[in-house]
Amino acid sequence: MDRQELMAYLDQCLQPERFNDYCPNGLQVEGKKAINKIITGVTACQALLDRAVKEQADLILVHHGYFWKNEQPNIIGMKKKRLKTLLMADINLVAYHLPLDAQVQFGNNVQLAKHLGIEIDGEILNYQGMGLLLTGHLPQPATGSEFAALIAKKLDRTPLHIGQDDTKINTVAWCTGAAPDLIELVVQAGVDAYLTGEAAERTVHIARETGVHFYAAGHHATERYGIKALGEHLAERFGLTVKFIDIDNPI
Ligand SMILES: [Zn+2]
Repeated sequence: MDRQELMAYLDQCLQPERFNDYCPNGLQVEGKKAINKIITGVTACQALLDRAVKEQADLILVHHGYFWKNEQPNIIGMKKKRLKTLLMADINLVAYHLPLDAQVQFGNNVQLAKHLGIEIDGEILNYQGMGLLLTGHLPQPATGSEFAALIAKKLDRTPLHIGQDDTKINTVAWCTGAAPDLIELVVQAGVDAYLTGEAAERTVHIARETGVHFYAAGHHATERYGIKALGEHLAERFGLTVKFIDIDNPI
């Protein structure tokens, strides 16, 4: 498949022009034109690049790419090594950040709900029509520890849980990645529990003092499912070989 054709399709799906993001979305590093094999992953770290080279991939598709706002622009050290790996192997790097969080079909938020069996009801916060902080309900009410156990089982990672088992959780709000401060909107909305990737020191007090259950289930762990679903879709639609590689990250 021609790279330009693939990029046109991805941009049509993810509509990066609608977002004012912290990084460029789409093709970040140009490689070969003909695409047959794609490696997907959460972050374009060196370990993922090395695996992609080994797999003779033509393109790496990630959620966390490069060239973040406020990062040092110098191509030295770690960054030199990463870019050299890509350029020497002529591998394309394609990244979608906020557009992949919010996408209605393959987005991280929608896919996390699917993975955990949460039924989506709506959203508390959206970005130009696409949900960034979703709300839903559990198929059946669960105690705080029961929901923590479900997250641990489904994400293969024990979440940090702040909350008591004296009431049952019906409604849940969630935002993948690092969004601990959205807990304030969740409190205002009267939702029983809030799930995100990372916690902040202050989040614990807000959860304790408002009674909202708080779960930090891992930035990486909550953001595996969007890029994986997008890759599976590309494989099915265009007959490409796509492999998701999970480089473990405890945060
Ligand atoms: Zn993220």
